[in-house]
Amino acid sequence: ASGMRISVVTGANKGIGLAIAKKLAGAPGHLCVLTSRTPALGQKAVDDLKEEGLESVVYKQLDIGDPASVERFASELEQEFGRCDVLVNNAGIAFKGSDPTPFKDQAEPTLKTNFFDTAAFTEKMLPLVRKSDAGRVVNVASMAGHLSILGSQDRRNAFTNPALTKERLSAMMAQFVGDVKAGRHQGGGWPNTCYGMSKLGVIAYTKVAARVEREAGSTVTINACCPGYCDTDMTSHRGTLTPEEGARTPFMLTQMKSVDEGGLTGEFFRKEALAEW
Ligand code: NDP
Repeated sequence: ASGMRISVVTGANKGIGLAIAKKLAGAPGHLCVLTSRTPALGQKAVDDLKEEGLESVVYKQLDIGDPASVERFASELEQEFGRCDVLVNNAGIAFKGSDPTPFKDQAEPTLKTNFFDTAAFTEKMLPLVRKSDAGRVVNVASMAGHLSILGSQDRRNAFTNPALTKERLSAMMAQFVGDVKAGRHQGGGWPNTCYGMSKLGVIAYTKVAARVEREAGSTVTINACCPGYCDTDMTSHRGTLTPEEGARTPFMLTQMKSVDEGGLTGEFFRKEALAEW
């Protein structure tokens, strides 16, 4: 595997993650590390890909919300490969509209997986991504996290502040959770969507993390994207795009050129093109 691009996808047992893993497994020179929180589901996905003739794929267990799993995964990857060339943060959750969980109780779990665990896992992996000669991080966000969901210019300014730090961003996201829990998020410039806010946080994190890498002289690129509205379990199969179509923009970002060669970092993409946030 020494010459291969070691390419990790989170939440890859189904949906868009599986479709991204399939593209990576089929991309010349790539070894796809397909991960899932439930081993049987991920191993089945790997077996199915192999059945289709895609050989360049291996399975590893990874629950981004379980610190012991994250620790084991990162140390195994380091021991076996010594680096991570591509990291696709695809794992995510969304409460269904029909879910009886009160809104005030949806903020914490939604932001935990989609924002806090995603950011913490990325931080854990970045030292391994920096060991790549062309490290690429791709965050699967959403148009639901568009900046326009923030009701006040002050809030928008806080999230787009060019001096925003990872710590300050996390503090603002925690403030949203606290305000939703206390039933006081409305009127405070916060949106009435936990999922949207979690994805807004991912896009903001993408921009801050990309700037931190650039300023440290790292060549790692970090970009975010919306896959489009896809036919998966998350959307109760209402989406109009296939998971394969949804995988196109994230896959494109795994193949981003280096910034020296005109590649982009810290940006948001949709429909395989740069998009406004
Ligand atoms: P699915 O619900 O079909 O798949 C989500 C995947 O994430 C599953 O593999 C799930 O695992 C995994 N996952 C959830 N929590 C964790 C965790 N803690 N650790 C590891 N894996 C986890 O959703 P989609 O394929 O539709 O969504 C993929 C991504 O795309 C998500 O980030 C979603 O927010 C985003 N997105 C989707 C859109 C759509 O229209 N479908 C639109 C915009 C963005 P398990 O099977 O064990 O539950």
